[in-house]
Amino acid sequence: MFSEESKVSQLANKNVVAMHAYTPGEQPQGTGWVKLNTNENPYPPSTKVAEALQKEIGADGSKLRLYPNPTSKPLRETLGKFHDVPADWILVGNGSDDILNLLMRVFAGPERGIGMTAPSYSLYPVLAALQDAPLIEVPFDKRFQLDVNAIANCGANIFFLTSPNAPSGVGFSNSTIEEVAQTFPGILVVDEAYAPFANENAAELVKKFPRVVVTRTFSKAYSLAGLRVGYALAQPEIIGLLDRARDSYNLDRLAQVAAVAAIEDQNYYDGTIAQVLKTREAFLDKVCSLGWFAHPSQANFALIEPANARGETSPAVAEDLFTYLKGRQILVRYFGKHPLTHAALRVTIGTDSEMAVLTAALDSWLTLAPPV
Ligand code: PMP
Repeated sequence: MFSEESKVSQLANKNVVAMHAYTPGEQPQGTGWVKLNTNENPYPPSTKVAEALQKEIGADGSKLRLYPNPTSKPLRETLGKFHDVPADWILVGNGSDDILNLLMRVFAGPERGIGMTAPSYSLYPVLAALQDAPLIEVPFDKRFQLDVNAIANCGANIFFLTSPNAPSGVGFSNSTIEEVAQTFPGILVVDEAYAPFANENAAELVKKFPRVVVTRTFSKAYSLAGLRVGYALAQPEIIGLLDRARDSYNLDRLAQVAAVAAIEDQNYYDGTIAQVLKTREAFLDKVCSLGWFAHPSQANFALIEPANARGETSPAVAEDLFTYLKGRQILVRYFGKHPLTHAALRVTIGTDSEMAVLTAALDSWLTLAPPV
């Protein structure tokens, strides 16, 4: 006889019983935190967003009785104009995580493996496990450069290429991504969650390659992580397949109007993006002046390798600094499991004043005698 609990597990799909849920970055409660751990934008969204939300809610919220536009057509048309493609080249979802999940459900399974660079976004292995699909990891070298040949020959049915990469921030040129598109025979997903901060992006490549999908989000550059809007950009055949698998009404009415208002105020976001980049470069200069290594970043975060007062770098040093910062209510991200990240910390770029608090804390940590 099984206990009731194990009987339930016996009835569940084995791959789900065996897998672990995604671990999101910490969302601390209370006030006073300098929150530099989940790559949110330090600036508010365009004021047009709040205006659009207020208009949609109206005086009494009565419009909320009604289902939203089932295909998010006005938003898809707005995004189509933005990328100079028809609306049937766009699929929107509940954050780009929803889009990544749809791609997995349509293109991956026990016989259809999922490829990814390692390390990269830690949601991919979770979604692969959910599809019971084999996971094929193509390792980066220590400077996070792409191995185009290894991707071409990895045998995956669908490959997730994060550009700029998370958690390194290293971006890949369009010519390198084009080489991958030409040589990898499956579906190539370029996860461009951070592309608005980068020197280049691969959006134009979807016009040339019918097997390439670019995914984007409103959570980072558009300061709308709280609303959950993401989209896929691809030729209509791929979009049509994803559309079959998506939930009905998969984007609520508030998210739809807010995303339209955001895209229509690109001027505002050009300003906040430029400010983030300026702050990022000043922070990287500071890191360099401490004699620490930082990966070159094309994103709104940086992966830095702290050295203690004795000049040592190691997982213990990175963890020590992480704990020290947390004790001062400064939250960054530590990825201790992978050898390319375990001696490093990932720091989201905040406002100049948040970064000043962080850099003052780095200086004071360096005055301490390091633990032996
Ligand atoms: N891709 C990457 C590489 C990310 O880091 C994130 C955010 N953690 C996402 C996609 C998902 O973003 P969202 O679901 O908020 O659109």
